[in-house]
Amino acid sequence: MVITVGLLGNPNVGKTSLFNKLVGARQYVANWPGVTVTRIEGATTYKDYTLHFVDLPGVYSLTATSVDEKLTRDYLLFSPPNVTVVVIDSMSPEQGMFLLLEACELGLNVIAAFNAIDEAKKSGIKIDKSSLEKFLRVPVVLTSAHTGEGIEELKEKIVESFRKATRPIVIDYGNETEEKIKEVEQCVEETFNKRFTAIKIIEGDKYARRFLKKDCPNDILDTIPQEIRTSIPSTKYEYITNVVQLSIQR
Ligand code: GDP
Ligand code: MG
Ligand code: MG
Repeated sequence: MVITVGLLGNPNVGKTSLFNKLVGARQYVANWPGVTVTRIEGATTYKDYTLHFVDLPGVYSLTATSVDEKLTRDYLLFSPPNVTVVVIDSMSPEQGMFLLLEACELGLNVIAAFNAIDEAKKSGIKIDKSSLEKFLRVPVVLTSAHTGEGIEELKEKIVESFRKATRPIVIDYGNETEEKIKEVEQCVEETFNKRFTAIKIIEGDKYARRFLKKDCPNDILDTIPQEIRTSIPSTKYEYITNVVQLSIQR
């Protein structure tokens, strides 16, 4: 049985280092369709499974503005892996956790890997894994691509989430924004995830607008107040700030 696993994360958080640790020499390089950005894939065997990893281009969000972002997002939207490992830098986890919340919003089957745990430990940072799991409602693994800590546990968690998908949190953006999300959702074509698409449209993602129905009123986008647009990322960051305060001592 093959399990496809996407390695998602900000640039320079250790995705490729983890990938190398996970698959060793069993890797090959291809190109992403239509562009000359390399796509690295590789496999490893774990129990009865073949874990097939894809090392995705580093991104800060799932709003597609750069080529890398578009490649990563299209891959996640149109050929979602069975499991997505969101690699987060333990030394400064906020931006990675933001991406994690977006991946959850997209409806991916997500695991969080807090990487560079060796460095975090050296700096006296204490990460409460079960607290993170409680607030993020996804499996959390503390990993080091340098020492190998957490690598076996990561493989185990990948198999576990493949067998039983996780049900992550749904961020509540407050009445006004939630009403707008519902309104825009009515105007979105049947797609991978209407809520995610509506949220991206409200945030101003031009690419997501392609999924608006043709007969949708033109003014639906003109009438979105700036406060509603900005409430989406800011609500995520508020949530993250709380989770970090309650789960990470530094
Ligand atoms: P990517 O851009 O996400 O693929 O990140 P890389 O794998 O290229 O790693 C970026 C830098 O972080 C490199 O200098 C790695 O050696 C370092 N790095 C990656 N993982 C770890 C880790 O677990 N611990 C420590 N201390 N450094 C790491
Ligand atoms: Mg890099
Ligand atoms: Mg890399």
